Amino acid sequence: MPVVSGRELWQWRQDAIAAASLAGVPTEEVDWLLMAVAGLDKLALRLNSYQERSHISILLPLAQLSRQWEQRLQDHFPVQYVAGMVGWRQFSLAVNPSVLIPRPETEYLIDLAVGANQEGNWADLGTGSGAIAIGLAAALPSATIHAVDCSPEALATAQANAHRLGFAHRIHFYLGSWCEPLSSLQGQLSGIAANPPYIPSAMVPQLQPEVAKHEPHLALDGGVDGLDCIRQIVRVAPAYLKPGGVLLLEMMAGQASSVTELLHCQGSYRQISIHSDLAGIERFACAIVC
Ligand code: GLN
Repeated sequence: MPVVSGRELWQWRQDAIAAASLAGVPTEEVDWLLMAVAGLDKLALRLNSYQERSHISILLPLAQLSRQWEQRLQDHFPVQYVAGMVGWRQFSLAVNPSVLIPRPETEYLIDLAVGANQEGNWADLGTGSGAIAIGLAAALPSATIHAVDCSPEALATAQANAHRLGFAHRIHFYLGSWCEPLSSLQGQLSGIAANPPYIPSAMVPQLQPEVAKHEPHLALDGGVDGLDCIRQIVRVAPAYLKPGGVLLLEMMAGQASSVTELLHCQGSYRQISIHSDLAGIERFACAIVC
């Protein structure tokens, strides 16, 4: 691992903060990045105590960090991709532009899964970085998780995350579309969780430039009304869930009534419920298969 002096890092931080203010990027991102790549803590940053250290290990050489920081400022490259990681629940997950950056609101999906009181076999459809699959494996200690993604790059990222965090033996990975690769598990799943793409196509280019320019559209774009993937999952999930099994879906603000209707019209679900995230937005749909 490259090593820098505290003095060099201090200077880098001063310059990065100045450049961030000029570019209108929140200066807190500099400290977040230094915590991620140089293992500094908030107190050391606040008191500048790291300045006295002669050797600080850093994940990438300062010149490379400077180039990527420049990309952050000039091209809206997300700071989580610069760091190559993001904190999500109790984990540090590796992320790169082939996976969506897991969002804090999605953390609550795991609590809903725990509330469903089901162990057994769970599927995470569209696993991306593997966040949900890993969250499920940790929160449901005797469950087996089946994580699916149609992107080989995303699946490799999820697999690496599961391996590094010690969950590789509890999570099986499948390349393919939604439930398709899980045909041998038909009628056997206790739960299916998914945070599928749900943004209406026309809205994708209007998202924050960090998202629109750099996060995978495959993970964002849910078709004309945003509901293409949710519609498909609602349709196929009952064949894979056992009676009493639970489907948990994340969705966008304003989609709750349409998703409730999709679940209702499918005819195989009961106890359909909507749950809000911590910002009060109706974010999750939960339904039990008859
Ligand atoms: N399941 C992943 C997450 O929640 C990826 C979701 C997606 O790519 N739409 O972060």
